[in-house]
Amino acid sequence: MTNLNIVIVGGGFAGVRMATALESTIEKTKEKYTIILVEKKSHFYHSIAGPRSTVDEIEERLLVPYTNLFKNKRNQVIQASAIRFEEHKLYLDKDVKNYGTSIDFAYLIIASGTDYAAPSKMPVVNYEDCLSYIRTARKQITNAESILIIGGGPVGVELVGEIRDKFSPKQKKITLVHSGGSVGGHIMPQKSKNKVLSLFKESQVNLILNDRVILPESAPLSTAFIPDEPIKTEKGETINADLVLIAYGSKPQSGWVKSSFPDTVSKEGYIDVKPTLQINKAGLEHVLVLGDVADLKETKMAYRTEPHVAVAIQTIKSLFEGKKPTKEYKSGPNMMVVTYGKYHGTGMLPIFNITVGDRVTSLVKGKTLFIDKSWASLNLTPPSSNSNDGKDEDEDEFY
Ligand SMILES: Cc1cc2nc3c(=O)[nH]c(=O)nc-3n(C[C@H](O)[C@H](O)[C@H](O)COP(=O)(O)OP(=O)(O)OC[C@H]3O[C@@H](n4cnc5c(N)ncnc54)[C@H](O)[C@@H]3O)c2cc1C
Repeated sequence: MTNLNIVIVGGGFAGVRMATALESTIEKTKEKYTIILVEKKSHFYHSIAGPRSTVDEIEERLLVPYTNLFKNKRNQVIQASAIRFEEHKLYLDKDVKNYGTSIDFAYLIIASGTDYAAPSKMPVVNYEDCLSYIRTARKQITNAESILIIGGGPVGVELVGEIRDKFSPKQKKITLVHSGGSVGGHIMPQKSKNKVLSLFKESQVNLILNDRVILPESAPLSTAFIPDEPIKTEKGETINADLVLIAYGSKPQSGWVKSSFPDTVSKEGYIDVKPTLQINKAGLEHVLVLGDVADLKETKMAYRTEPHVAVAIQTIKSLFEGKKPTKEYKSGPNMMVVTYGKYHGTGMLPIFNITVGDRVTSLVKGKTLFIDKSWASLNLTPPSSNSNDGKDEDEDEFY
């Protein structure tokens, strides 16, 4: 094999974790592999804390530079978008130093994740643009008197909770419209769903279930927007909102894979993988898929990237040795913690579906939102927080 590049596409939770694990793995191989992480954004975006950025000035803590990701200078992060690939070549959307518009690879790791409306994901790619996007969104929320949130899954609930944590019902009216009959996400036990309902009631959130908003044709689906006129629902409700936030519609970032090998991508956009996390396509045994974009029938969660990477490393080690990979991925139990601001929320633990309430939710996630953990995964320390909450010792257990 002449080409020793291992290319990772996507520097989110899965790509970063894989990059670090791979770097220590290749230190022990006799071939001198080079890892190249291709990421369209200039900085890692800690999406888990996106909803809090709508009310707190934490944007500089949410954007983590990739500068310290690799210990060995041979490995590098390139800011570009992958647009398609062939058996051993990845094409980029721009010219990059030392490579041009394509990179040859021996192995390709696909970790391009999913897209979602801001502030859960960023619609812009460069640091200053992200900062200014978040600041503008926060100003819009501060100025709005009546906010409509569409979507009552975990992200919708967390958004409501953050806004309510900061602004009382007198300061802001919040309406949440959800097409389903209960809020909090489909895997949530009933007890947790009831807890969310009681939090909504206590904090005077106007909840409309089993109905859908009729979005104006001009409405952007990836960002907050200020509607020109009152918003209507399919069942005839009229909502006078001066700001609308979208909290539904996760989109797998697999268009570039589909344009390369269309039959590897499901109609929902997820990439077909074997249990060894190799892409399910003859001739592409050297291409692996992990993280949210993989078509694994499980919840899409950052904590799952740890077992994904454990299997992917075993698979790639077998491939290095010319052996058939045998380690198979099996989804672990569900676990989810949904915050409602810093001090409230609910969740379920992986054992016997035990539900947790305000205290545990706040302790494991609500106060710190795992921000320090993401900085640590990129071998950095975050800028200090303005909050007095500090880091709890057991905050790292949930992703
Ligand atoms: C509000 C919120 C709260 C959450 N809370 C939790 C939680 O408490 N615990 C938990 O475990 N999970 C949580 N999650 C889920 C978690 O964020 C996702 O599971 C996680 O982001 C998946 O990681 P990933 O690396 O697969 O994908 P992503 O994080 O989506 O990363 C993919 C990366 O690939 C890049 N990319 C995409 N396409 C290309 C391309 N063509 N070229 C180059 N780069 C590309 C993107 O820019 C991105 O950086 C939460 C999510 C949200 C939105």
